[in-house]
Amino acid sequence: MRKSLCLLLLLAVVPAVCVPQSPTLSFDGNSWWAHVRFLADDSLEGRDTGSEGLRKAQAYAVDQLQKAGLQPLGTKGFHQPVRFRQYEVDESKSSLALLIAGETKSLSFADDAFFSARATHESAQLAAPLVFIGFGLKIPEKNLDELAGLDLRGKVVVYLAGSPSDIPTALASHYQSVGERWKTLRAAGVIGVITIMNPASMDIPWSRISVNRNHPSMDLADPEFNETQGLQLGVIFNPASAELLFTGSGHTFAEIAALGKDRKPLPHFPLAAALKADAVIRSTALESSNLVAVLPGTDPALKNEFVVLSAHIDHVGIGAPINGDRIYNGAMDDGSGSALVLDMAANMKAHPEGHKRSLLFLLVTAEEKGLLGSRFFAAHPTVPLKSIVADINVDMFLPIVPLKVLKIEGIEESDLGSRAASIAQDLGVRPIPDPEPLRNAFIRSDQYSFIKQGVPAVKMDVGFELGTPEQKIFKDWLTNRYHAPSDDVNQPVDLQATALYEEITRRLLLDTANTVARPRWKPDSFFRRYASQ
Ligand SMILES: [Zn+2]
Repeated sequence: MRKSLCLLLLLAVVPAVCVPQSPTLSFDGNSWWAHVRFLADDSLEGRDTGSEGLRKAQAYAVDQLQKAGLQPLGTKGFHQPVRFRQYEVDESKSSLALLIAGETKSLSFADDAFFSARATHESAQLAAPLVFIGFGLKIPEKNLDELAGLDLRGKVVVYLAGSPSDIPTALASHYQSVGERWKTLRAAGVIGVITIMNPASMDIPWSRISVNRNHPSMDLADPEFNETQGLQLGVIFNPASAELLFTGSGHTFAEIAALGKDRKPLPHFPLAAALKADAVIRSTALESSNLVAVLPGTDPALKNEFVVLSAHIDHVGIGAPINGDRIYNGAMDDGSGSALVLDMAANMKAHPEGHKRSLLFLLVTAEEKGLLGSRFFAAHPTVPLKSIVADINVDMFLPIVPLKVLKIEGIEESDLGSRAASIAQDLGVRPIPDPEPLRNAFIRSDQYSFIKQGVPAVKMDVGFELGTPEQKIFKDWLTNRYHAPSDDVNQPVDLQATALYEEITRRLLLDTANTVARPRWKPDSFFRRYASQ
């Protein structure tokens, strides 16, 4: 397209307009945008897991992968079916209250606190004492044990989302994951958890979280994946109402929030308030699938090894209307990453430079439900786990400003991180670690499923320096568009930033496929332990 446009311009005798943006790029952003436009169209209804809209998106993706000449590598053609259970809270039959000094103070689901169906899988009726446990973390590597000295048997614990500043980002993220958290709490005898959202790290304001609180949640159906056995109840608390929890405790939430904002150590103490909860949960079975395709490598031995390029094709579907719009299109989340996977597949097939290892293109389902599709794939990969050398995951890379700074999640953890950094540098882009560790991004997308199986992984995003106008652009994007109907195709995107981002991804894929040595975890990386088997 660009070439013929230049030709036309030449004929019109305006050759000066034809200076290419960069001779090194294999992309122009336009084919990527065409895929985004399809995937984020209103007719796909936000691609919720199990929905007709997601099936349409997947049919489109399979068609594109086939057109690009890729081979299927699922268990049913390009598909890898996955079974789920879906959980919904029936609020009309449920209630939540605090018992404070002999009085019952009932809580409003919309304004104060609601049941998390992700943590509450069966109907539950209970009354239990509450204990505040700070950030609720036990991190042996850093001699941190916030549960020490507390009697938590039969109790519901209350914690503030976040971590103290002396814990490295990746480590803090790991121990805040649902499974790791529950392992520690369960061992201490805890029966339920209340999470107070941290006002310093909330991507989405409470009002928007609250309107969609009754959207069904899901889990993998196979019991091997149940990470929260014994957890009776999970509640999400509005920080604006959290002062109630601390009534009569000798502490205030204002004091806790101020410490939490600066990631300072938090106190731990029993609360004077107790919880009274009656949760009615409905559950149903559901099926969806991952899509898996391969471009075989050229080396007789190394072609049996795979570099994964992954993105999630699902989004959150139809929800509460915002400005009259009910369709949560997910153009950037993660239409952008899915589009990149399709664009990359076509590009690699059309310009075969040759790659020694095979390239595995993976579009997972149910990321929005808690990284479920990738978790299933990483536990039951359609190629031997040991043959997967790396995962490059693309999720909402946000080309909303020019690409000058590249944020690399996992930059310090493995060779893959260092390679990504040097490729970015070669293209004039500055690589940086996550400048906002509180957002916990390292465990918030599908790369984490691979990391937990020992596979080195990275996630790269268009980034910004702290204190710059770009930081505000990203913050505003999260506040207004993230998981909102306005993450659609009517928002401005920077196609040059996309093209450059795609180029970095392409080079990292090829470099990883052609470098004979597999990427390794750094000797001091915490995540190296998963690769030890
Ligand atoms: Zn996403």
